[in-house]
Amino acid sequence: MSPQVSASPSLCVFCGARMGRNPVHQAAARATGLAIAAEGWRLVYGAGDVGLMGEVARAAQEAGAATLGVIPTHLLAMEVGKRDLTTFIVTETMHERKKVMFMNADAIALLPGGAGSLDEFFEVLTWAQIGLHAKPIWLVDVGGYWQPLLALLDHVIAEGFADPSLRGQFHVLADVPALQAAMRSFRA
Ligand code: AMP
Repeated sequence: MSPQVSASPSLCVFCGARMGRNPVHQAAARATGLAIAAEGWRLVYGAGDVGLMGEVARAAQEAGAATLGVIPTHLLAMEVGKRDLTTFIVTETMHERKKVMFMNADAIALLPGGAGSLDEFFEVLTWAQIGLHAKPIWLVDVGGYWQPLLALLDHVIAEGFADPSLRGQFHVLADVPALQAAMRSFRA
């Protein structure tokens, strides 16, 4: 599962199906969609039209980026499947959704989100930890949202339940401009 960088690389974005309370997250989601388009990348995501997911997708689309969304049948109504994407894929299961998203990604970004986003982040992190892939994982710490998660991971390492190298399996980026810079240097 080594990365294959195409002329137009794809960024898989994991983020909330809700907007969250702090408006800074909605703004960051929008900025992420715009950055994807500005850098000539394609958005890969969970195909929902709700919360931060919908915000990233609408901004990317409006700014001219190609988009690929993957959603399982049973979430089509709940997450309002966004059918006007460049490519819209419906899977039978959640596992297939995550697999199709991952296989179509050159890099992964985590924006603020809830349990679903955490699940997605930990899956690609643990796959990296056991050497299944080397795709960059960019944790975008919008407004310090992920500080408790980083503290938990440090705690896990300090208590001897993970190797310190775990912290090297992903990159913490302070904001969306830093994410955009990471996308640019990845291509370079
Ligand atoms: P959330 O961060 O909880 O708002 O969820 C963000 C996205 O993750 C949504 O598209 C959810 O459908 C998805 N999600 C929720 N639970 C899971 C799970 N167990 N595995 C994979 N994705 C999930």
